[in-house]
Amino acid sequence: MAAAFRITYPEAEMSYLVVDCNDGGSDVYTEGNRIYGYSRYNRGSLADNFHNWFIIESDTPFETVAKVEGPHAYLLIGYPKTTRGQVVNLKVASSFIDFDQAETNLAELGDGSVDRIKEEGRKIWNETLGRIKVEDSNIDNLRTFYSCLYRSVLFPRDLSEINAKGKRVHYSPHTGEVCEGYLFTDTGVWDTFRCLFPLMNLVYPDMSEKVQQGLVNHWKESGFLPEWASPGHRNCMVGNNSASVVADAFLKGIEGYDAEELWKAVVNGANNWLQGTSSGRVGFEAYNELGYVPCDIGLNESAARTLEYAYDDWCIYEFGKALGKSEEELAQYKANALNYKNLYNPEYHLMQGRKADGSWNEPFSRYKWGGDFTEGNALHYTWSVFHDPQGLIDLMGGEENFVANLDEVFEIPPIFDESYYRFVIHEIREMQIMNMGNYAHGNQPIQHMLYLYDWGLQPWKSQARIREVMNKFYTSAPDGYCGDEDNGQTSAWYVFSALGFYPVCPGSNQYALGTPLFKKASVKAPGHGTAVINAPDNSEENFYVDGLEIDGKNWNKNYITHSQLTSGAQLDFTMSSKPNKRRGTSEDAKPYSFTNE
Ligand code: CA
Repeated sequence: MAAAFRITYPEAEMSYLVVDCNDGGSDVYTEGNRIYGYSRYNRGSLADNFHNWFIIESDTPFETVAKVEGPHAYLLIGYPKTTRGQVVNLKVASSFIDFDQAETNLAELGDGSVDRIKEEGRKIWNETLGRIKVEDSNIDNLRTFYSCLYRSVLFPRDLSEINAKGKRVHYSPHTGEVCEGYLFTDTGVWDTFRCLFPLMNLVYPDMSEKVQQGLVNHWKESGFLPEWASPGHRNCMVGNNSASVVADAFLKGIEGYDAEELWKAVVNGANNWLQGTSSGRVGFEAYNELGYVPCDIGLNESAARTLEYAYDDWCIYEFGKALGKSEEELAQYKANALNYKNLYNPEYHLMQGRKADGSWNEPFSRYKWGGDFTEGNALHYTWSVFHDPQGLIDLMGGEENFVANLDEVFEIPPIFDESYYRFVIHEIREMQIMNMGNYAHGNQPIQHMLYLYDWGLQPWKSQARIREVMNKFYTSAPDGYCGDEDNGQTSAWYVFSALGFYPVCPGSNQYALGTPLFKKASVKAPGHGTAVINAPDNSEENFYVDGLEIDGKNWNKNYITHSQLTSGAQLDFTMSSKPNKRRGTSEDAKPYSFTNE
């Protein structure tokens, strides 16, 4: 972790540099033209010995040094008289390990030339963002796309450092010790399991391998996989969706890590809870006994937890199957993958919280955010059956009802009940402003829902809604996001959707088809073929898919597979301004469902 700074000063009798070391315990001092310091500022979930050590080396000697001591230390450096445009160069390095490691990190900067480092950085960014090439005459769409791709690759963050012996090591937020290998942090898995990690598995498999190695280390150092790493185990959001991150990587062929260790980790996580955090499963005892987390045992957001645990159980089942685990080992997860059914109330045709005695949590309001759900309402959460839309179709009484219930989300005005939060949380306000009924794209739980018409055998409805969301809620302007970006998830939604497909069910090897945004796009990851997506007659009006050929052969399914993309398939879309109501309407056009497995 090192950076070069170039500061240009004006003409002045004295010019200054302020080093703000943050509160929570910090210190700073100078030695020659160097500044040494540390900051202990953090928001918890860390071992007691946490320090962010830093060294700043200035190419210009200091004239004066003044210091503010205390838990929030400051340093005020005075440079002698500067002329207009005078440049001071700083080399800055930090380490979570110690000053010696910060010194090693500082050496990465070499001569510290800002121009050289900038050029090296430009090449790395070009390689990174250039893995997806899009071509179009609409420059705003290109800007939005690459801004989204840029945001998608910022998380999770790598905590590891290369030591003086050239070995990769990291400060463990769990033990406070220096451990070998990778460790990644700053990702809320509740958000990012949905399509951010799947994007990595498709476009950056070389990074996925490192991330999985890092997950093995989280498990070995703390006994749990993080649900919200920041940098240790935080208490934030619900679910046990680290199982999805593990399963999707393995099932999409990522290698180079100890998958057997991660099997132990997901089994442990499904049957334990790391107290005071969201890691493992809050309420696992009741869930395993009753098949749902009851709403009356002192746990909030019980329906959201249940629905996500059921999907997570499917992930564990599929992961275990691929590892060759026995039927006995898999039985619990296979059975529990259907637990979402326990919360479906046919009276409202929605998911609902349920008490330990089996009765429903009444009074019920489909407009109520929070309560049994997490940052959403029953209209948003009923669709959290990523792995089994067919099961949900069956519960609802067939495709026609299923599609009517999907439509209803858009048709109901953006009415809401904020009584659980006792104020209008920003996610609610964003739903109101976006004005697509009760569809709330500014938060994550519903983002996959637009694609579910593919299962309802009316894919043209997905296509129309997806294009509407891409156009309305994402722009290249400073206010170009419609709500929580959340560690790349909302950006990755756009990246996938602009390519024309989306991983509704991470772990399934399939992508539901939407509507490509560009006339041409290609995806090339190391070790994969180049997937090409052509839609030459694409336009603002022509957003419906009229036909699709893959490698020259007609393809009438509402999905494509991961292996088609990684083997370098060519997708040729024919686009139209009118929906093609014959395409994608046969039973075998449906994407994956557990029920049909
Ligand atoms: Ca969010």
